[in-house]
Amino acid sequence: MTTNGATPTNCFAWRCSSSILRMGRLLLESLAAALFPPHCALCSRALPSLEIICSACVASLPMFEGPCCQRCGEPVDDPSIDLCIKCGTRMHAVDRIFSLGPYQGDWGRLTRVFKFEREMAVGRWLGERMAAALIPENAGRDFSVITFVPMTRRDRRVRGFNQAEILARIIAKQLNLPLIRLLTKNRETPLQSRLSAAERKTNLQDAFRLLPCSQEQVLLVDDIYTTGSTVEECARTLKRGGAQSVVAMTIARA
Ligand SMILES: [Zn+2]
Ligand SMILES: [Zn+2]
Repeated sequence: MTTNGATPTNCFAWRCSSSILRMGRLLLESLAAALFPPHCALCSRALPSLEIICSACVASLPMFEGPCCQRCGEPVDDPSIDLCIKCGTRMHAVDRIFSLGPYQGDWGRLTRVFKFEREMAVGRWLGERMAAALIPENAGRDFSVITFVPMTRRDRRVRGFNQAEILARIIAKQLNLPLIRLLTKNRETPLQSRLSAAERKTNLQDAFRLLPCSQEQVLLVDDIYTTGSTVEECARTLKRGGAQSVVAMTIARA
């Protein structure tokens, strides 16, 4: 008997079955590659292996460069300024916002391919890049839990999945952190970008509810950062429930 109670025969059987599974997966991947040769999700060029985006397209993805606001990431003109006007003049519940790049152009295309064309491989690729941006060496902070911006039950049923939840699950796995559903959404809310400034203020009020679980350093995942109202309202709800810090991560920002 081994220390965990498995007999040598069991271990041998387990090793055999896991290598059979691995071989089976490789075989299926080769078959899929032969039947459906992979193409770059951006330029449609045929790819030699099961990649998602060709190296030329990856290299040309736009990044935020130059001085930027240390809270929201918005580019600022003056390198001596730490915070943009919006962050420097108002209190916010979200402590820091990270995004992979601007929504205009290819980051927006990739987001739409994942969200509306349901290309889960693209979602995985995006989630892995988000995770890489969040490792302590890059993000400069640690997290104790990962959660995501929720959808109402009806919206989730219509789409079939919550894109923020899928991204959060990939990030949690990559960073080896717990993924916990901390928020629910109580009611449908019109898109913030379609509302007047006055309507935006009340549109999301009490739209989110905290599930009974308080965590300290929360990473909140969403797909797009537009007006910032959604992540702000979620962060406010999380902090009311005891979160010490809330950092938001999105694929792109508009
Ligand atoms: Zn390409
Ligand atoms: Zn800012």
